[in-house]
Amino acid sequence: MRKRIIAGNWKMYKTVEEAKSFVEEVKGLVPVSDNVEAVICPPALYLSELAQLTKGSALGIGAQTMHDVKEGAFTGEVSPAMLVGIDVGYVILGHSERRQYFNETDETVNSKVHAAFEYNLTPLVCVGETLEEREAGQTVELVAAQVTKAFAGISAAQAEQAVIAYEPIWAIGTGKTATAQDANEVCGAIRATVSELYSETVAEAIRIQYGGSVKPDNIEELLSMEHIDGALVGGASLEPASFLKLVEAGAHE
Ligand code: PGA
Repeated sequence: MRKRIIAGNWKMYKTVEEAKSFVEEVKGLVPVSDNVEAVICPPALYLSELAQLTKGSALGIGAQTMHDVKEGAFTGEVSPAMLVGIDVGYVILGHSERRQYFNETDETVNSKVHAAFEYNLTPLVCVGETLEEREAGQTVELVAAQVTKAFAGISAAQAEQAVIAYEPIWAIGTGKTATAQDANEVCGAIRATVSELYSETVAEAIRIQYGGSVKPDNIEELLSMEHIDGALVGGASLEPASFLKLVEAGAHE
């Protein structure tokens, strides 16, 4: 049985006071469960403090992006070594907003996936199609190609530890969720791609999240699907009560 993973992507929201009070309120209420892992990905500026605040709790802390080298003349960037140095355990890579606004490509995502494993960070690798691509019937082909490129040169032992987030771009922040069946179909196609790239064993182990307008009232149906092992959540992860409901849904048998 794969352990579900519910991750909140806060994007560029919350003051430091709001971030701290969210974590203080939530950290003791996240269930310690074999069924679910809970993670918050705050703005980079708050990572260090929130990682300290959550020490010893069941709430993990992740970054929303990172550079792919240890150090260097890269103004404004944060490195994997820096994240590990402040006890961050996860990193979102290749989010569609990073691809759209910050020129991330399948190639840069791949080198960041390598860097994540080099520094023992769990990568949450995002893939997903635009509305035009979906309407043109290209979803499965496109997502399979994104996965193949993201995992180029990654070993089977590493891939087993990775998380893939399937996020149809047209469903992010729009209130439009893919139907649970559609989301499951694409997550199943991702699992089949992983099986071809590696083996059935890796495909059975890797966790695949769905993301895009996940809310407390639609998460249960999504999680009931065979290939959906969790959720990457933007808007609905910003309020403690809502985030906790998502995690509790993940903790159910
Ligand atoms: P949303 O964002 O839940 O607000 O649609 C999801 C994401 O971008 O990860």
